[in-house]
Amino acid sequence: MELTDSVSTLPFVGPNYEKKLNKLGIFSILDLLHHVPHRYLDFSKITKIKDVIVGETITVIGTVTSIRNQATKTGRLMQIGQIEDLTGKITVAWFSQPFLTRMLFPGVKIAVSGETSWFNRNLAFFSPQYEKIDESHETVHTGKIVGVYPETAGLSSKWLKARIKYCLDRVKIVEFLKNTKGLFSFEEAIYKIHFPQSLEDSHKAKERLAFNEFYNLLVEAKERRKKSEKKKSISLKIDHTAINSFVKSLPFKLTSSQNKVIAEIMSDLKNKNSMNRLLQGDVGSGKTVVSAIVSFVTFLNGYQTVLMAPTQILANQHYETFKEIFKNYKIRISLITGSVVKKDVGVNDIIIGTHALLNKIKEFEKIGLVVIDEQHKFGVKQIDFLKNKNPNKLTMTATPIPRTIAQTLFSDMDLSILDELPKGRMKIKTWLVPNQKREKAYEWISSQITVHRSQCFIICPLVEESDSETLKNVKSVKKEFLLLKSHFPLLNLGLLHGKLKEKEKNEVLNEFKNGNLNILVTTPVVEVGIDVPNATIMLIEGADRFGLAQLHQLRGRVGRGEKESYCLLFTTKSQAPLTENDSGKAVNRLTELTKINSGFELAELDLKLRGAGDVLGTKQSGFGNLKIANWSDTKLIMLASKAVSAYN
Ligand code: ADP
Ligand code: MG
Repeated sequence: MELTDSVSTLPFVGPNYEKKLNKLGIFSILDLLHHVPHRYLDFSKITKIKDVIVGETITVIGTVTSIRNQATKTGRLMQIGQIEDLTGKITVAWFSQPFLTRMLFPGVKIAVSGETSWFNRNLAFFSPQYEKIDESHETVHTGKIVGVYPETAGLSSKWLKARIKYCLDRVKIVEFLKNTKGLFSFEEAIYKIHFPQSLEDSHKAKERLAFNEFYNLLVEAKERRKKSEKKKSISLKIDHTAINSFVKSLPFKLTSSQNKVIAEIMSDLKNKNSMNRLLQGDVGSGKTVVSAIVSFVTFLNGYQTVLMAPTQILANQHYETFKEIFKNYKIRISLITGSVVKKDVGVNDIIIGTHALLNKIKEFEKIGLVVIDEQHKFGVKQIDFLKNKNPNKLTMTATPIPRTIAQTLFSDMDLSILDELPKGRMKIKTWLVPNQKREKAYEWISSQITVHRSQCFIICPLVEESDSETLKNVKSVKKEFLLLKSHFPLLNLGLLHGKLKEKEKNEVLNEFKNGNLNILVTTPVVEVGIDVPNATIMLIEGADRFGLAQLHQLRGRVGRGEKESYCLLFTTKSQAPLTENDSGKAVNRLTELTKINSGFELAELDLKLRGAGDVLGTKQSGFGNLKIANWSDTKLIMLASKAVSAYN
């Protein structure tokens, strides 16, 4: 048997089971062996029946003395029987498994594991794990630490375990590390993740398999890097005079951090190898202008730039910004989104757009630079579209990716960090507001708007109202808009959400930018990139529904000018006293947000609290998903990283 064999070659796996396994992403024997328990039951304590204590989780080994089907009061069929060992008797009961009476007839020797309880004043097991005892085989389901698998797609733990055991007895697992120092060997890990002797075993097994995941990601990134280094690219000339005069034409002086990053990029551009750089910068650190300067250099060399944004709104904003920045230059800029398509892409110098651009990119003849803004909102697969072309790539992200992760997932990229905000930015004052103070908060917002001519975002989690019980208290933007309109009769309110037509979205946003709207009631569509420097108040409804990183992005929509800015957080649960565990946790999380202003610090914290899938948005994109490992396991990432550089 080979690890690469299809699961369909296994006994008891016909087309039906094969389909079910495939649904779980299990195609090969190797996949099956990596389908690991999500928890373990400790059935390792084998007890004589006379020593059984009610409530304990144990294993009893004995002989079946009776078993029959019996209807319960509710009409379900119950399989009730008795097991006996040399010291006593115990009742066993299952439900709705009538076939058991044929399998476990009197005289059969079995092991049963589970929690013990009372039944009609007798000791009993309800729905225990059971296993026929066969002197020639070890027990698999009872008498030890037993793995419980996520039982999706109609595959029981018991069934999976039997298939896995069959493979483990036949397959050879070859170690690929020369030195496993302190880790289980690959073989031991695979065996013990399914059949540990102790809980400690299962932890160590998990550690090794997690290590493998990091190791593989790192090797892949390294391969990507090697491949792109092989491809020849163009080296660009840097015309310092032209660049300086362009930079002088900007309405502000660049920060020293922006200058440092630009210098790093320039040295990449001069190089023969293509640039592949990740630019990380907290919200508002001024990434857009950096990308504009790089586009300008590309233009001066006679090449085209493609700038991709994850939303139409943001693509449109970049289009307006670039048109403004380059108004004194003869640079042809166009916008391509789902609904706006300009055909003459060949004669444009800078093409800005959304995913819709992906299909067009093949047509560009002289593509020299691709900028991907808010990269975490795309997936790696979507970005891997360039195939044979190998332009310079600048990937930008405002989601501060902790360094360890950046070095693993993106280790094929060079890293630049904007770690400074433009001068004059003030800390955004952030408050967690109890619901009783809602009226007061509205009054305050109203006066801020009238006195300081500032503008306000109000974020609601949903577009429409939801019927579902769990979402009942969550504010929908449409309903809230009507309520707020009657609340602020003297102010102009606008409504924005993803379901509007592109034209409508742009109109509303432009009205807000022009200052014709005082309040923009919106869903988190504004989360990425929207830049309205005069907006200074951000009110977030249902803040407990968002992760810290996302809240930080939302909050980053204000504080972009030199005026004092504020962020008010309301929670869905603030009607009820916040004593429950769940809401208590949310409050703690939000309290951190009121204290911490650095995106990097918040991302690290979020990572610990919620895991990387949520933080990096990888859940949606299926990108960098880890099955076993956990992104917060920095030590293991480092260990894998060392192993990769030592052996590759
Ligand atoms: P982000 O990094 O979040 O994409 P933006 O590029 O949208 O940030 O920049 C945020 C705001 O700061 C914009 O209004 C931009 O014009 C302004 N800005 C950028 N760089 C500077 C600077 N060096 N000095 C002052 N304002 C700047
Ligand atoms: Mg941006």
